Amino acid sequence: MTAKDVIKMAQENKAVMANFKFLDFPGIWQHFAVPISELTEEVFEEGLGFDGSSIRGWQSINTSDMLIVPDAETAFMDPFMEYPTITMICNIVDPMTKEQYSRDPRFIAQKAEAYLKASGIGDTAFFGPEAEFFIFDGIRFDQNAHSGYYFIESTEGIWNSGREENPNLGYKPRHKEGYFPVPPTDSQVNLRTEMVMEMLKCGIYVEREHHEVATAGQAEIDMRFDSLVRMADKNMLFKYIIKNVARRHNKTVTFMPKPLFGDNGSGMHCHQSIWKKGKPLFAGNGYAGLSDMALYYIGGILKHAQALAALTNPTTNSYKRLTPGFEAPVNLAYSARNRSAAIRIPTYSASPKAKRVEVRFPDPSCNTYLAFSAMLMAGLDGIENKIHPGEPLDKDIYDMPPEELASVPTMPGSLDEALDALEKDHDFLLKGNVFTRDAIEKWISYKRKNEVDALRLRPHPYEFFLYYDI
Ligand code: GLN
Ligand code: MG
Ligand code: MG
Ligand code: MG
Repeated sequence: MTAKDVIKMAQENKAVMANFKFLDFPGIWQHFAVPISELTEEVFEEGLGFDGSSIRGWQSINTSDMLIVPDAETAFMDPFMEYPTITMICNIVDPMTKEQYSRDPRFIAQKAEAYLKASGIGDTAFFGPEAEFFIFDGIRFDQNAHSGYYFIESTEGIWNSGREENPNLGYKPRHKEGYFPVPPTDSQVNLRTEMVMEMLKCGIYVEREHHEVATAGQAEIDMRFDSLVRMADKNMLFKYIIKNVARRHNKTVTFMPKPLFGDNGSGMHCHQSIWKKGKPLFAGNGYAGLSDMALYYIGGILKHAQALAALTNPTTNSYKRLTPGFEAPVNLAYSARNRSAAIRIPTYSASPKAKRVEVRFPDPSCNTYLAFSAMLMAGLDGIENKIHPGEPLDKDIYDMPPEELASVPTMPGSLDEALDALEKDHDFLLKGNVFTRDAIEKWISYKRKNEVDALRLRPHPYEFFLYYDI
């Protein structure tokens, strides 16, 4: 698509507005719009100005003028605007230097793709994220909720700790049995289908949808893999569609990784592989049909996993998911088929084209552009330095005795630990100037100040349960 094609597409669809979307640093879409007469070919070259100082994690007030430059390839008709609106995803440019902005996550992802090509290792990195999420009717805070302090209301019943064996007269899924009985137990199939229909209309290829394990309306919709930046773009559109379809029905969706204590959290497993000239490079004669390159890629991810966590699991809530017993990984091991390992090699298909690694620790609270880029850089570091991943761990890790597990490294236990790990280990991200030192430092200081400390300094409702009567 060129600028001309976008303008033609707008005319054909009788668009009256042109909408521009871009990311803030943590990874939430921002937008503004202009009447369609303002969408000229120059906009695609010159850009349009906005105040960068009001965007989280970006410019300070004295250097606040910034430009958005729309990417014509990303145009789609926005299904949630009352007036026909064409939408584009944008890059961020500094009006003084005319260079792309080093803290724009999309630019970081573009540089990661360029680094892969320049390395000669491959020309395309494919990513397939599986973001899980919860659909809720509402959250009611209540001091009498015994194991926490809130009730979650969903069409699948009121959740209160997820473990109570109350009489079940309403086809509420039993604890850990959300995956996946038919309706009426699954009360959200039509809602998920509507989400899928909107995705297909916007050009997202969907492979499947299903209820997930957690009882109170957990869901998963899987998109077909795509190249790094395109997939990160699609993941933004995916979240946008899911939240807005839920809103149409007076529901809300959350991608926070662990909304319910005692039940499964939401992960975002990321399938990944490297290709060159249309040939898959991860298939070979090694363990689970992997090539040496794929094994080294795994070696790089495992070596840098603790630092990666600061980008793939970047919220304080992320670490409440990474506990044993809920299909989320704790130990840094790899295995074919094993869902308790941090990296799984799917074995459904013997085709070399399907050969990939599934990294299971990321969650959907991440900024996908940064998480994909960081994982690719860690994997490439593994390939460049022939980092062997060690022996696979083919046992159920949750059942292994602690003595046996003692030698297996683990994910960080908190965002604080992950940020410390990133502070110590980030040279692999600086290669090719993919992440600038400034971007990494800003990420760490932003997260420490606005999330780690902000939470640490607040009395937690559960502390009232533990200590009020002390
Ligand atoms: N919800 C699990 C997680 O947190 C994954 C469940 C699954 O897809 N098997 O990663
Ligand atoms: Mg899945
Ligand atoms: Mg799943
Ligand atoms: Mg999976």
